[in-house]
Amino acid sequence: MTRILVTNDDGVQAEGIRELVRALASLPEVEVVVVAPDREQSASGHSLTLQRPLRMHEVADGWYAVDGTPTDAVNLAIHWLLKERLPDLVISGINNGLNLGADVTYSGTVSATFEACLLGLPSVAFSQEAGPGASFPRAAEFARRFVATLLEGPLDRRMLLNVNLPARELAGVEIARLGRRVYRQVVVEKEDPRGRRYFWIAGTPEWSRDAGTDHDALERGLASVTPLHLDLTDYPALEGLGELARRLARQLGG
Ligand code: MN
Repeated sequence: MTRILVTNDDGVQAEGIRELVRALASLPEVEVVVVAPDREQSASGHSLTLQRPLRMHEVADGWYAVDGTPTDAVNLAIHWLLKERLPDLVISGINNGLNLGADVTYSGTVSATFEACLLGLPSVAFSQEAGPGASFPRAAEFARRFVATLLEGPLDRRMLLNVNLPARELAGVEIARLGRRVYRQVVVEKEDPRGRRYFWIAGTPEWSRDAGTDHDALERGLASVTPLHLDLTDYPALEGLGELARRLARQLGG
């Protein structure tokens, strides 16, 4: 029996997680346990709640809601609920909206898989483009076949895959690297009914048109599959920092 932990950042009530679980539960020899935030936690990033207690409630058979972030949910699942028999795989999603390029660092959906990775478990994040043509049942069927394919072979504990699906009918699948967003984020300044100023972070992302990226794959109607890891070290810079290291040693000793 393969045990799959499912979580998300849109909350336990979201259509994306409901369709995903329905699809995964139909796989043979698969047991699905859901531990997910009790409400939307999109763009919560890899945030961990340490300043207040967390509550977890079983909302249906095998479904648990946590009043915290996706990272909190994965922690409670791994270190408490499922600690006697850890999941073989952690799946996050299906997110309502893409998680491309550096947006993975804001994403609660992808951060749940970061946490799984840190805890030594293989994981996959699924996100679907929002907009005309988007269908969670269709995306869930894709996820079911994707996971079935993964389970045909042994799972690498370090595996962390970020998968994005176009809203329109799928034209294929492509392995891709993270794309680069050309930042046009804007801050809108307005006034509230009491005359006080407030701000809203808004804007439509624009992407640099690089071949081989997740964004490029989505533009062509393909699902992108991007392997990620959490070693943020800039290795080429490590080589190039010799001169700075010498100056630091001269100034600071060592
Ligand atoms: Mn979300």
